[in-house]
Amino acid sequence: RNEELRRVSKMKIILIGIQGAGKSTQGNILSEKLGIPYLSTGHIFREMAKEKTPIGRYIKEVMNSGALIPDEKTLEIVSTYLHRQEYSKGYIMDGFPRTTVQAEAFENGIDKVVYLNVPDKEALWRLSFRDEGREDDTLIGIRKRIELFHEVTEPVIEYYRQKGQLVEINGENSIEQITEEILRSIK
Ligand code: AMP
Repeated sequence: RNEELRRVSKMKIILIGIQGAGKSTQGNILSEKLGIPYLSTGHIFREMAKEKTPIGRYIKEVMNSGALIPDEKTLEIVSTYLHRQEYSKGYIMDGFPRTTVQAEAFENGIDKVVYLNVPDKEALWRLSFRDEGREDDTLIGIRKRIELFHEVTEPVIEYYRQKGQLVEINGENSIEQITEEILRSIK
């Protein structure tokens, strides 16, 4: 059991799903349970968007529109983060890779890719009740993000399915059930 814990606490896990699928909820729970740091590219970019610099203003504008930050910039920022000591033993990543270009460029010894599958309607419903409203949570932004998910992130899911690394989870179950299912499937 200890051996198993040691093994999972070194895992590199990717969470994929549309906005509202529960990635950050599960990411935080898993981080706590497994003792692995959680990081989200959305969070990193939201922090950068607060900077009153040309790059900060640019990121803010792109995010509010729901569009994606260019791959090259994203890859540069993510690799800088992952070089930090705290992520050297494993991490739970939310929001990246989002395009096949990112997935192909990112060879980082990923162990599992967890796809939280939730229908668009259900996600939109959940988002309309979310109270920690983010600044980039405009209706246009949310719609655009969902549209882009189907267009450019679904191929990423297929990419990992082909590689045999994908775990698909029904994200409509309860939070506890989903956590259990993820834990079962990554061990
Ligand atoms: P999220 O919190 O994951 O919904 O991300 C919020 C916004 O951050 C997205 O709409 C994008 O503008 C940007 N973003 C986050 N992750 C990525 C990524 N991997 N590639 C490009 N843009 C991203």
